[in-house]
Amino acid sequence: MSSHKGHVIVLTYPAQGHINPLLQFAKRLASKGLKATLATTHYTVKSIHATTVGVEPISDGYDEGGYKQAPSTEAYLESFKSVGSKTLSDLISKFKDSASPVNCVVYDSLLPWALDVARQFGIYAAVFLTNSASVCSMYWHIDHGRLSLPEKQATEPVLLPGLPSLGPADLPSFLAQPSSNSAYLAVIMEKFRCLDKNDWVFCNSSEELESELVKAMSGLWPLVMVGPMVPSAYLDQQISGDIAYGASLWELSSDQCLSWLETKPPKSVIYVSFGSMADITAKQAEEIACGLIASNMHFLLVAKDSINKFPIEFINSAQERGLVVPWCNQLQVLAHQAVACFVTHCGWNSTLEALSLGVPMVAMPQWSDQPTNAKFVEELWQVGVKAKKNKEGIVTRDELEMCIKGVTAGERSEEIIKKATNWRKLVIRAVSLGGSSDSNINEFVGKLVKGEE
Ligand code: UDP
Repeated sequence: MSSHKGHVIVLTYPAQGHINPLLQFAKRLASKGLKATLATTHYTVKSIHATTVGVEPISDGYDEGGYKQAPSTEAYLESFKSVGSKTLSDLISKFKDSASPVNCVVYDSLLPWALDVARQFGIYAAVFLTNSASVCSMYWHIDHGRLSLPEKQATEPVLLPGLPSLGPADLPSFLAQPSSNSAYLAVIMEKFRCLDKNDWVFCNSSEELESELVKAMSGLWPLVMVGPMVPSAYLDQQISGDIAYGASLWELSSDQCLSWLETKPPKSVIYVSFGSMADITAKQAEEIACGLIASNMHFLLVAKDSINKFPIEFINSAQERGLVVPWCNQLQVLAHQAVACFVTHCGWNSTLEALSLGVPMVAMPQWSDQPTNAKFVEELWQVGVKAKKNKEGIVTRDELEMCIKGVTAGERSEEIIKKATNWRKLVIRAVSLGGSSDSNINEFVGKLVKGEE
């Protein structure tokens, strides 16, 4: 084992919701004196701007455009495993005789093969889980035979230690309909089978956010809470310094968004975004458009490549009350005083960002872990409401309007704002000097530097 101060390669899956927290983790390690290098695919390297962290390419076998070029998710993940293992090995070897040989690989939970690569080099291995600990506990219980996957579609509520009763609509889609996401589910289950083989298992959450679950699982599994991985500039009262994660796979419309927000009164804008992966239907887009118009508030809508799904009259008339952009610096928007609430798909990063900034949410989950996150937003943290879907699976304009009113006006909204302000304080405490997540990171850094087990 190396006696150097410590050089960690942080390996990320090339999606926005993975690069952001892993790059942020690399930055936190660098701020504590370690050398940190982010390893990401050739076509995402150029989107990353980091001054304290090195950035190096590895290959997933599709160097021009990644998974979109692959014939299937299975083929993509298989290619990443074989070509990625080889190029990650090359990267570790490249540093072997340098002043900073690599002594640990922190790898994204979607790339479990990195554990074998680290072991071949005899260096430390740590997995970084990008879901909540609660969602991870469900996969862990499956692997330990305490929860079984439904044959086709879940119909029964799930009761697990430290979690509220979860109905079929609250389960991650990978568990509610296992057959529809089998490639991802296989990778996830592979990771949980190997959890104990890692030197550390990090989770992008804090002990305070999931305290019941942490208590219930104490001693059962090796999870270490180190989050939320939100740039620290946003967790100070004064927003300065690092105003972005430092990675954007799409062009940001920051100046346009900020100058538009500056013209709006405090708490007058609804921010709407469904993250980087979710794909809404034209019918759902129409209902969102009509709900936003009916709310009588200003709105900032991130449409990504779905802009054509929104009614043309809505887009044309949006200038009066709204701004529609393909992508934005979400943190900058959420931190702006003009923003009153966040209509969100409840991706885990978006949820953590809203919790960290004290912004009330209207949850419109789509797939993956989002239904469970949405349930927690409404019931566990009580920082928002979950929009109900009709029989066709659509959130109607009336429902959206009602939810927006629920979090921005009236008695319930006051309670929600109080809770949101309180969670923000707890999150800031967790990541500040001596807080629970900060102490957990310090312990890891200490062991790595000394070369202890
Ligand atoms: N994001 C952004 N600009 C946008 C929308 C999203 O920078 O216009 C960022 C957001 O801050 C978050 C990430 O993209 O860090 C999305 O991750 P999340 O887990 O919320 O959702 P996913 O994209 O994985 O579904």
